[in-house]
Amino acid sequence: MKVAEITRDKFAEAVKMDPVAVFVIGATEAHGPHLPLNSDTVQPMWVAEELDRRFDNLLILPPMNYGVHSSTRNMPGTVAITFDTMRSVTYDVLTSLFEKGVKKFLVMTGHAGSAHMTACSEACKRFVRETGCKVIFLTDYDVAEEHPDVRGIKGDGHAGLLETSRVMAICPELVGQARPIGLYSDHGFLVLANAEICFPEGLAGDTTDASAELGDAVNRYVADKIEEMIRNDLV
Ligand SMILES: [Zn+2]
Repeated sequence: MKVAEITRDKFAEAVKMDPVAVFVIGATEAHGPHLPLNSDTVQPMWVAEELDRRFDNLLILPPMNYGVHSSTRNMPGTVAITFDTMRSVTYDVLTSLFEKGVKKFLVMTGHAGSAHMTACSEACKRFVRETGCKVIFLTDYDVAEEHPDVRGIKGDGHAGLLETSRVMAICPELVGQARPIGLYSDHGFLVLANAEICFPEGLAGDTTDASAELGDAVNRYVADKIEEMIRNDLV
């Protein structure tokens, strides 16, 4: 159930069922010329809502809509927060739920930038060390990439074939007509103040063959895999 839509008393009842709290961390981030800024939120939220249909004791939290961004941080539409803020928000949300009796968590981020991932995982590790709670932390992007139809496609990344297809399956009305092709431009070990030059076209990949059908298959695959993880590790 969605935490935002239930009452205080229903929440207290739900906690007695030893629920798994699902905390989606999304982003407000430029995603090429064709995808909405909330792309990294709608993908994991769809998965969270699908999981909610498969379990009777999930607490789906309102998503966090901001993340840590480097290569897209100067692009129009990206709203970035700092590493420390991200780490604190993740830790604080888990801690507040723990104080209400929740002991199992799935923290799922749609954005998968390395600094962002580290901030979230540092918070999860500290929380687990301090409380002994069970926490799964992942990006659904890593799971999606393993789908047999997209595994091993070279050069697909930010706002590419995979993400375009997944967002088309979830909210086609938000996806623009363009099907761009973009290359990630590697600058090696150079530290860049204008890291957006790594995405000269604003994306990495060839979106020509993106489709809602592919996206739907990938989204369901991600839900299947994470359902398995929850059943194996949390319930
Ligand atoms: Zn994305």
